[in-house]
Amino acid sequence: MSDQIRFDLSQSDLPKFYYNINADSPVAPNPVLNPVTLEPVTPDFLSVLFPMEVIMQEISTERYIEIPDEVREIYKLWRPTPLMRAARLEKALGTPAHIYYKYEGVSPSGSHKSNTAVPQAFYNKISGTKALTTETGAGQWGSALSMAGKFFDIPVEVYMVRVSYDQKPYRRYLMETYGGEVYASPSDRTDAGRAALAEDPNCNGSLGLAISEAVEVAAKSGGKKKYSLGSVLHHVCIHQSIVGEETLKQMDMAGEYPDVVIGCVGGGSNFSGIAYPFLRENLKNGQRTRLLAVEPTATPSLTKGIFAFDYGDTAKMAPVVKMHTLGHDFMPPAIHAGGLRYHGMAPVLSALVDAGYIDAMAVDQKSVFAAASVFAQTEGILPAPESAHAICAAVKEALEAKEKGEKKVIVFNLSGHGHFDLAAYESYHQGKLVDAAYPDEKIADIPNHLPKVKLAT
Ligand SMILES: *Cc1c(COP(=O)(O)O)cnc(C)c1O
Repeated sequence: MSDQIRFDLSQSDLPKFYYNINADSPVAPNPVLNPVTLEPVTPDFLSVLFPMEVIMQEISTERYIEIPDEVREIYKLWRPTPLMRAARLEKALGTPAHIYYKYEGVSPSGSHKSNTAVPQAFYNKISGTKALTTETGAGQWGSALSMAGKFFDIPVEVYMVRVSYDQKPYRRYLMETYGGEVYASPSDRTDAGRAALAEDPNCNGSLGLAISEAVEVAAKSGGKKKYSLGSVLHHVCIHQSIVGEETLKQMDMAGEYPDVVIGCVGGGSNFSGIAYPFLRENLKNGQRTRLLAVEPTATPSLTKGIFAFDYGDTAKMAPVVKMHTLGHDFMPPAIHAGGLRYHGMAPVLSALVDAGYIDAMAVDQKSVFAAASVFAQTEGILPAPESAHAICAAVKEALEAKEKGEKKVIVFNLSGHGHFDLAAYESYHQGKLVDAAYPDEKIADIPNHLPKVKLAT
C-alpha cells in the first residue's frame, strides 16, 4: 500500500482564528430567554454565569475571532490533530469509498472537549473568576475542564451524573488528579439536588439536573464562581471550529474533497466544529458537501424531538433557547454513550437542521458497538462510544457506496478515545446491550413539557 494514510499539519499551521458560522448562516439566530420571565435575556442575567468575553462570542456575528496566544500555546500540546485515511477499514468493508477521520482523541483528556475547556478557563481567568462550576456526564467534559482550570490556576467543581459517577470511577480519578472536585449529582449541596433526592433517593441523575446544580452554585456565589458548559452554547461551537479548519487544510494535502462530513451529536459541539467550516464552503464557494449529524435512537432530539423553546436544564434555571428538544425533564435510558444523553441540542445547529442545511440520523447502540469493534480491529483505535455513532454512519455510507459502485469521499470526526469506556465494551461482548429506542408515546407527550413562550413579533 503506497497511498499516504496520515496527514499532519505543522504547529505553524495551528489556526489563529475561530470561525463563527453566524456571520454566514442563512438562518437568523433566535433570542435567548430568561427562564423566569420567558423574555429575551439581558447581558446582566448572563454575566452572573459567564465572563463577558464568552457572552460577546455567544452573540457575535464576527466571521473570525482571534484565538488568544495563551490558548494557542496550550493547544500546541496536542494540536494540530492528525487526519487519517482509514484505508484498512475501507479494505475490510470492500468499499470503493475513501474514508478519512479527524482524530481528536489525541488531546490529553482524550476528546475534543479540551478545545473549548482551555479558552473558557482563559477568558474566566482574565476576568477575575475565582472558581468554575460545571456538570459532566461520562466525565469527558469534567476531565477537560479540570485540566484547563489547573493550567490557569482556577479551582473546578464538577457535578457528575450519578449513574456515571458510579459506573465510571476512573474518569473521576482523572478529574481529581487534575485537581477537580467531583460530586455525584443529585448532590445535597444545592436546592435542585436536594429536591431530586427527596423525590427519589436512588435517582440516576441526568445532565439536565447536573447543569441545574452547577448553575445554582455559580448563581449564588456572589460573582466569585462562574459556570462553564462543555457543549450546546454557541461560543463552545465557535471554539470547536478549529477542528474543521484543520480538516479543510488536511483534505487539501490528501488531494480530495469530502462528499459527506459526519459527526456524532450530544449537544452538537464536535459536529459543529468539523461541519461549519465545510458549511461555509457550501454557502460561499459552491461546494456541495452533505453534512450529517448522528445521534442515538435513545436520545433522538434532532430526528424525533420538537424544534421549540425549552429550558437548558431540569430545574429551569439555565437560559431558555429554541432548539430540538425531548423536554427539559427528559430522563434518558442508561445507554453507554453518556456524552450523548442531553435532552436538547445546540440552537444554531437545530435551526440549520430545521432549515435543511444539515441532515440528521439516529443509530441504535448495538450497531454502534458493532461498528466500533470493526474500527478497533482495522484501525487499532478504541473509539469512545459517542464517537462510534459517527463511525457507524460512516460505515453505512461506505457500504451504500459499495452497493452503488460510487467512489465517495467520507470524512468523520473521531471525537475521542474509549479507554475509560471498557465496561461498555464488556457489556457489548457479553451480549448485554439493549436496544433503548425512545418510546413514541413519550415523544408525543413532549409538547406538554415545554414552556409557553409568547414573544412579541
Ligand atoms: C461529550 C462528547 C460528545 C458529545 O458532545 P458534543 O458537544 O455533541 O460534541 C461526543 N464525543 C465525545 C468523545 C465526547 O466526550
